[in-house]
This record gives sequence, structure tokens and C-alpha cells, in this order.
Amino acid sequence: MLTIPCPHCGDRAETEFVYGGDAGVSRPADPAALGDAEWSAYLYLRDNPRGRHSEYWYHRSGCRRWLQVERDTLTHRVLATSFAGYPKRGSE
Ligand SMILES: [Zn+2]
Repeated sequence: MLTIPCPHCGDRAETEFVYGGDAGVSRPADPAALGDAEWSAYLYLRDNPRGRHSEYWYHRSGCRRWLQVERDTLTHRVLATSFAGYPKRGSE
């Protein structure tokens, strides 16, 4: 089980959070200009990196804020956390 250090609540178990997806994906600037294939790729296609990955997590059973978590997918070590949209704090 992961322990995620919430910037507001401190170290908490993964079970208090809901995974919110890949934080490295940006919404297209002009969605109406996309064709079906591009829109489908934006919605469904994600990388499956081995190593450092940026993710969104929602602290459902705590402060109810969205976090951006930098996590190593190989070791499951959490490298840094921040509130989504704010600078990161962490060990690296
Ligand atoms: Zn929290």
C-alpha cells in the first residue's frame, strides 16, 4: 500500500485517496478542431511509464483537495506532492 504525504494532512494511506489520472496530459486548446481519432487519443490513450510519473490524486477521506503526486511506478516511492496547480514539495 502506498503512503501519500498530503501537504495539508500529512502521511496518509492510499485508501484515503482516489486516483485521478495522468497529470501530464493537457486538454487540447481547441477541442472542436480535433477529429474523432485525435479526440479519442486524448481521452483514452495514456503512456505506461516505468519510473517517474506525475499523477492526480483526490484526498477523499481527508482535506478533499486535489494533489499532484510524483511517483516512481517501479518502486512505488512517492517523490513529491503538492496541491494541484501549486509548486511541488518533496524529497527531490
Ligand atoms: Zn489531505
